[in-house]
Amino acid sequence: MSLDGAYDDGNIFAKIVRGEMPAVKVYEDAEILAFMDVFPQAKGHVLVISKTSKARNLLDAEPKTLGRVIGGVQKVARAVNAALKPDGIVVTQFNGAPAGQTVFHLHVHIIPRWEGVPLGRHAEGMADVEELKALAAQISAALES
Ligand code: 5GP
Repeated sequence: MSLDGAYDDGNIFAKIVRGEMPAVKVYEDAEILAFMDVFPQAKGHVLVISKTSKARNLLDAEPKTLGRVIGGVQKVARAVNAALKPDGIVVTQFNGAPAGQTVFHLHVHIIPRWEGVPLGRHAEGMADVEELKALAAQISAALES
């Protein structure tokens, strides 16, 4: 899919926002939702999305939406750091299929990294849901108010 085009209400993240598909949630408020990536590239891989915007990517997002999403990314990344004590945290965001985007609803990846642990492949290898729930509980418990 190119960078330009219409937002598709049937995308998987829109369904998660509407409660039509399950997600292991880490944090939620009126504007944003953070949940575990079901094909994680590392232990504790979290996605942060806007619940209100129909932006597909960074380019078509409203500045206010970007502010809310990146504020949520910082909040959750701090909690990931406190809960899992990684050696580093990668924050990524892809725009358009050739750039690696597979879900066309604006989202940001938070991927903890540990020395000597290679990064898993992008969007491959489904996680055990009970493990994701345990990680989400750890991260949620470390969220600052
Ligand atoms: P993108 O490739 O668009 O940057 O990221 C999409 C991400 O969504 C991928 O990392 C992929 O693993 C994740 N993903 C795809 N489908 C689902 C799903 O149904 N549930 C969850 N939690 N994550 C998903």
